[in-house]
Amino acid sequence: MTPVTFHNTLSRQNEAIQPTKGNVIGMYCCGPTVYAQAHIGNFRTFLAQDVMRRTIQTAGYKVIHVRNLTDVDDKTIAKSVAEAKPLREVTEHWTEVFHDDCERLNLLKPQIEPKATEHIPEQTSMIESLIEKENAYATEDGSVYFRVSSFPEYGALSRVKDRELTTDAASDTPNDSDEYERDSMADFVLWKSRKPTDGDVYWDSPWGQGRPGWHLECSAMSMKYLSNNLDIHSGGVDLTFPHHDNEIAQSECSCGHKFFKHWIHCAHLLVDGGKMSKSLNNFYTVDDILKKGYQPVVLRYALTSGHYRQTINFTLDSLNAAQSALTRLKKFSDDILAATSLKRSTLLKSIDKGKQTKAPWAKFQKAWDQLSNDLNIAGALGAIFTAIKEINSTELSNEEAAENAIAFHKLVYALGYDLDSVVIEKPKIEAPEEIKALAQQRWEAKQAKDWTAADQFRAQLQEKGWLVKDTKDSYEIETI
Ligand code: AMP
Ligand code: ZN
Repeated sequence: MTPVTFHNTLSRQNEAIQPTKGNVIGMYCCGPTVYAQAHIGNFRTFLAQDVMRRTIQTAGYKVIHVRNLTDVDDKTIAKSVAEAKPLREVTEHWTEVFHDDCERLNLLKPQIEPKATEHIPEQTSMIESLIEKENAYATEDGSVYFRVSSFPEYGALSRVKDRELTTDAASDTPNDSDEYERDSMADFVLWKSRKPTDGDVYWDSPWGQGRPGWHLECSAMSMKYLSNNLDIHSGGVDLTFPHHDNEIAQSECSCGHKFFKHWIHCAHLLVDGGKMSKSLNNFYTVDDILKKGYQPVVLRYALTSGHYRQTINFTLDSLNAAQSALTRLKKFSDDILAATSLKRSTLLKSIDKGKQTKAPWAKFQKAWDQLSNDLNIAGALGAIFTAIKEINSTELSNEEAAENAIAFHKLVYALGYDLDSVVIEKPKIEAPEEIKALAQQRWEAKQAKDWTAADQFRAQLQEKGWLVKDTKDSYEIETI
């Protein structure tokens, strides 16, 4: 196993991952709220987590990947009420859409994908133990709150200052202070008593009808599935506080020991330099990008190629850069495989099964060093392109070609780029003056509605190996 390090939000340091048990890494990722199609910002985070998992596996570890589905909260309930549909019908539809997008973007499926609504007993028993230990209290209306003052380490992850805790920031329902009688404004809700706006979404509990608070589900489900592998917990940077600080507080108080060791947060995706928002009309889903004619692998490249801890600015231009980078990667893959007896799909399958972990990194050592050092994908890609240049200008023995082919495809696997789906663009060749002049004459004939002359010019161009294509208000020429 080669070391893999990630920045740990808890210590603010890069730390090597250390399995709690054997060579298995438990990895819990906060999943989507299934009330609408996830946007490409959400996918930036899910993709970074996917490359994390693939990188850990490529280093030789086994990963148990758990990613939840938030299928009950204020947003999902509001959608089911607005559409007059049962909550389950709404969340199942958006879960399917999410799964389709994940498949298109080549995300590995988590082995466990628990739903909040299917883990109500686990959540209520966690509340019961917190009440028993006096870390939580019920209010008259049948809600239950976590008592922040009972956990002196509260806020260690985000290093939130005391003054911030006097606001509503710790709650997942920021404006509910009038409706509930909390002992302190910093206390956050574990169980929300049933309200008329909840429609028929409620469960019975020892405190009356209601539903769990959002923070609780991730604690209950991660403890259920990863209690022996509390290794990595991750989400977008907005989840650091209050979501993850609340998770740590309620989990450590109820189970009496440390919760996850390594906390990893992904920075946000900006669009055209600003926050994505529907009102600014810069809010993209995977469908929006594919409709513009880009392959999913191109979107995956554009969303993964920056460092996950730095905000990236998404532009349509970044998709064009991604397309040409992928074309270079695919061309190299085809060439190096042609020099060996290896096949891409067979090789990737054996890497996925963990069979190539001992193979040398050959000329791709630097790229692996970058990737395994806090997932520096940008650095790894730079090193890959440098290695490609070097290999292309060297005579390799058969053995060296095979070693480099395996090493390169281990990186392709870790980055999750499906090179088979990359559509190679035709190289753009500047047309000679004579061809440009013929194309212009054809255009002018067409404008003058002289169709016979236009067709003759087209035929002349074709004879010389050039194709003319009309665009909205002009034309393009390319080689046949
Ligand atoms: P949600 O469905 O809102 O619970 O979010 C799913 C995941 O996407 C969480 O890990 C969020 O932190 C993350 N996320 C939300 N907005 C963005 C964004 N603009 N860029 C990157 N990640 C985001
Ligand atoms: Zn969570």
